[in-house]
Order: sequence, then C-alpha cells, then structure tokens
Amino acid sequence: MTARVLVLGPSGRMGRAVIEAAAGRSDVRVVAAVDRSGAPGLGAPIGPVVATEDPGAGLDACDVYVDFTAPAATRVIAQLAVGKGKPAVIGTTGLSSDDDAALVALALVAPVVVAANFSLGVNLLLGLVRQAAATLGTEWDAEVVETHHRAKRDAPSGTALMIARAIAAGHGADYDAVKRHTRDGDIGPRPRGQIGVSTVRGGDVIGEHTASFFGPAERIEITHRASSRAIFASGALRAAAWAVGKPPGRYDMLDVLGFATKSGP
Ligand code: NAD
Repeated sequence: MTARVLVLGPSGRMGRAVIEAAAGRSDVRVVAAVDRSGAPGLGAPIGPVVATEDPGAGLDACDVYVDFTAPAATRVIAQLAVGKGKPAVIGTTGLSSDDDAALVALALVAPVVVAANFSLGVNLLLGLVRQAAATLGTEWDAEVVETHHRAKRDAPSGTALMIARAIAAGHGADYDAVKRHTRDGDIGPRPRGQIGVSTVRGGDVIGEHTASFFGPAERIEITHRASSRAIFASGALRAAAWAVGKPPGRYDMLDVLGFATKSGP
C-alpha cells in the first residue's frame, strides 16, 4: 500500500528534504503540503502538490502526516489531528511538556512516531553508548558534544539529549539528577556520574554528535556526523509508511527499525 502523506512546513529545510525524498519512494506519496500563513511558496507548486495554509484539509486528505516545524505548530496540529484520528510522524525538537501533552493525546487515538533523530546511524549509536556506559560505569566520565548550523533554535539538540539519556540508562541513573548542560565560572571538581552536554553552533553543519567516555589514561569517542538531511527525511518517510495501520500508541525510531535495544530503564 502507498501511504498518502501530508508534509508540514514545505518551505523549511526538513520539509523540502521530505518532499524530495518522497519522490524516490514507492511506499509513500505526498498528497498535501501545509505551511504557516505568510510562509514563502504558499500557493505555488512544490513537488507534486501546491502548498496551502489549511491544515484541516491537509489532514483530511492524508493517511499520515510528517511534522518538522516548530513546537507551537506541532502542538496545534496534533490537537487538530486528535479529532480526525490521524497517524503522525513528529521530528520537531525542543517540545515543552505542554507540546508533548498534545502528542500524548493524539497517541490515544492514532499511532504517533516521535524521534529527535530519524537516522539509522544515530539510532544505532544510542544502543552503543548505552552499552558502553553500562560496561564502563561512572568511573569513566561521560560527556556529549553536539554541533549544528547557526539557525537551529533549541539547545542542546534533541539528539544530544537522547544520547545523554541513553548513557544515564546504561549507568542505571536518573538523567535529570545527573545532567549538566552549562558550565561557567568556579564549577569545582567534576562529580562522579555527572553527564555533561555541550552545544556548538555555527555555519551550515547539519548535525554532529560525539559521546566521549574519559577513563584513566584512555578515552573512547563515538561520533555520528550527518552530511545530508536526506537521511532524516527518508527515515521519517519510512516511519510514515510503517505507522499507517498500526494500533494507537507512541512509538520511536527503534520500533520502526525493529532494533531490539529498547528494553531496560
Ligand atoms: P526550518 O525553520 O527550516 O523549517 C520549519 C518549517 O515549519 C518552516 O517551513 C515554517 O514555515 C514551518 N511552520 C512553522 N509553523 C507552521 C505551522 N503552524 N504550520 C505549518 N508549517 C509551519 O526548520 P528545520 O531545520 O526544517 O527544522 C524543523 C524542526 O525539525 C526543528 O525542530 C529541528 O530541530 C527538527 N529536526 C529534526 C530532525 C529529526 O531527525 N528528528 C532532523 C532535523 C531537524
């Protein structure tokens, strides 16, 4: 079956990449594209469709929607999708707990795939860092560094947070109790078990993440570098085709890929 897809934010970096990636696939077909009012390209053809500012009509036309927009848009469109029971693939990062509550409500009536990173490599890396943290323990200091293009709004990146949480899970720790997102001034010695996350912004970097484990006289670094947004776009479309027909609930990319690394805290 070919899943009919609504793409949100077709004028955006990821929206454009999703429309381009769909052109090369047979499991999905873009049937609608919806942008915010005033967005460039409204009313003009983009890929096989014309971009509109009518999310209700776009949702009615699709089997599943793909959302790489902004937190407020993600919340409002999820609220609209609840009444229509529409499956969703959510890539927007930096969601507040109120934004996330809209996804929780949608997941009660439809399948919702939420991932801060749709690439195969990063989802594999999550399993690797968790295993490293579990093996090395808190004797090895764990740090995450992420680098992104200058226009990225949220920090640390959603992917860096997923990696840091995977390390905490490997340590058997509560991430919120051990996280350290900023350092400045007289910070004192590094506490055992702390997990640091540092942010770098500049240029046109699509996304780079390194998890480092600092042991006595040795260090392990596990790095992922994205060199094209196409990896996120094709992962999201794979998730869209997968989601159609699934029972209501919240899923992530590990479910879509069938990775067996999800068990545990
Ligand atoms: P961008 O600013 O280039 O694009 C955002 C798009 O959303 C724009 O086209 C904008 O007009 C549109 N938009 C805003 N409000 C809207 C609304 N109410 N309805 C419809 N469209 C609306 O941003 P980007 O670089 O494409 O990133 C978008 C999001 O995706 C960010 O949160 C980013 O962190 C995230 N992202 C996730 C992944 C992943 O794999 N999960 C990968 C890359 C980026």
